[in-house]
Amino acid sequence: MQEAYNLAGDKNVVASQSYGPLVGLRYKKTSFEIVIGLPNEADGLPSVLEKFAEEGIIDEVLTQMNKDNVRLELAKFELGLSKLFEEPALGVVQGESVFLIKVFQEAFIKVDKEGTLCILSEEYIGANLTDEMYQGLYHGSKKHEPDLDAVLARAWDGGLDKMIITGGSTTDSQKAIEMAQSDSRLYATVGCHPTRCNDFLQDAEGYLNSLKALIKDNKDKVVAIGECGLDYERLHFCEKDIQLKYFEYQLQLSREFSLPLFLHCRAAADDLVAILAKNRDSVVGGVVHSFDGSEDALQKILDLGMYIGINGCSLRTQENLEVVTKIPRDRLMIETDCPWCEVKPTHPGYTHVVTKFPTVKKEKYTVGSNNQVKGRNEPINIVQVLEILAAVRKENIDELAAAIYDNTNKLFFNK
Ligand SMILES: [Zn+2]
Repeated sequence: MQEAYNLAGDKNVVASQSYGPLVGLRYKKTSFEIVIGLPNEADGLPSVLEKFAEEGIIDEVLTQMNKDNVRLELAKFELGLSKLFEEPALGVVQGESVFLIKVFQEAFIKVDKEGTLCILSEEYIGANLTDEMYQGLYHGSKKHEPDLDAVLARAWDGGLDKMIITGGSTTDSQKAIEMAQSDSRLYATVGCHPTRCNDFLQDAEGYLNSLKALIKDNKDKVVAIGECGLDYERLHFCEKDIQLKYFEYQLQLSREFSLPLFLHCRAAADDLVAILAKNRDSVVGGVVHSFDGSEDALQKILDLGMYIGINGCSLRTQENLEVVTKIPRDRLMIETDCPWCEVKPTHPGYTHVVTKFPTVKKEKYTVGSNNQVKGRNEPINIVQVLEILAAVRKENIDELAAAIYDNTNKLFFNK
């Protein structure tokens, strides 16, 4: 039996009534931690819960494990992590009654029937509208009926008039294009995400040619090269040298097809800027999407003539909110990066959100209701990004929206 406690405002803490260990997730900026609490005999579970709540330790509870197994399972789990990252696990910190395991955000975890924590690897990166969440699948398990059509309908009803579906590999880009073909308002990008650049290793020219073929055969649908760029926060998926080499390598597609870049940049602004500056002649423009860098990084990217894309991940800290006020209005774009990067109630900009949508847990979600799935971002939520930007930049929201719309058309749709 499970019972829900709400001990820490919007952080839902769910706990079993039995006194087993509690397993939860704590989201950090670039990673999450698995939190495992072992109640001691005297205090029992409620005191552990109170402690967790007080310290804001848990954002999401995974499950409970059998108390006797927990140490064993932890050891196995740590081994699994080491294998995935081919390095020692990122650290198990053992406190009095709390274990913390740091994990990169993109390695999803699940708990299988035996109660073993497992890693689900990188196939969940990127995603967006081709993501399985819109087919009702979460970490491989079915939680509700497919609802992509409903999600799109909400977006069109909400006033969106075009959407760009991001690709991050040949397979991904192919899927994005196929989806784009189903509606005249949908478009796609074609390119290789920095974390996928190992795909180039076997036959770089062949891989590039397959990207080229996708662009050539779908000229009416492909509006950008990308996502491409550099991601130094996820070197465990693809090492730096390979990222650098094949980011630069695919830049030639921009000039060849006269298409702008849809750029991904994490903790790598200096190198990204250096490569773009060196290859100025190969590039016809672009946007750095999901920007969350410093003001210094912003300035360097602006100096190259690039646009800046803002989503919920770009608005997670007070510093983020200050940086976005420095973006010139004629260089600003907004996005959701759904199903990821939603604006969360814990984010500092959330107080400026006016338009809120009812959400329910994925298990309770029914297609056709007006609810959204809790924790899954969708295109209509782009309005929340706009509302935060208008507030922190102290601009008229309609004028800001019109400017952003113009910028987007100028870069992607000015054929
Ligand atoms: Zn990205």
